[in-house]
Amino acid sequence: MSLLKKKKNDSVAGFGGRRWIGVDAARSRTMSAVRHGGTRPELEVRAVLRSLGYRFQTLVQDLPGTPDIVFKGRRAAIFVHGCYWHGHSCAHGKRQSRTNKQYWESKISRNRVRDRRNVRALRNGGWRVLVIWECQLGRPGWIREKIRKFLGVEKKRH
Ligand SMILES: [Zn+2]
Repeated sequence: MSLLKKKKNDSVAGFGGRRWIGVDAARSRTMSAVRHGGTRPELEVRAVLRSLGYRFQTLVQDLPGTPDIVFKGRRAAIFVHGCYWHGHSCAHGKRQSRTNKQYWESKISRNRVRDRRNVRALRNGGWRVLVIWECQLGRPGWIREKIRKFLGVEKKRH
């Protein structure tokens, strides 16, 4: 869910036409509403983290890409990505939009570029980054293990 920040710029720079800006603005509003409380995949990951005893912050805006979940003391950040929006290489990510195909394809490819840039910026700043994909949430045991490995087993320090 890190695609929102530059949405406005994108529509101005990329398309310019009123129609696209209109579409984008409407979508931004919808997605902001969703984002406020966290998307379902984000909530699922947070629940796993809480069950493992980790403490974290959400939506830290002063970091590149506004990571969904941040562990400041550990300098670690997690992004929870929707497969379609962020162009995952799974079946959901390859699903194609029926309308405005080219528009969405180029938008998603820009999202992927931006995601990579954000991860790189974080890593350059000394952060460790984990990306969890929506489709991986169907494997709770695997996710727990992945999170434990990423954050370490210590529970008290944060
Ligand atoms: Zn996926």
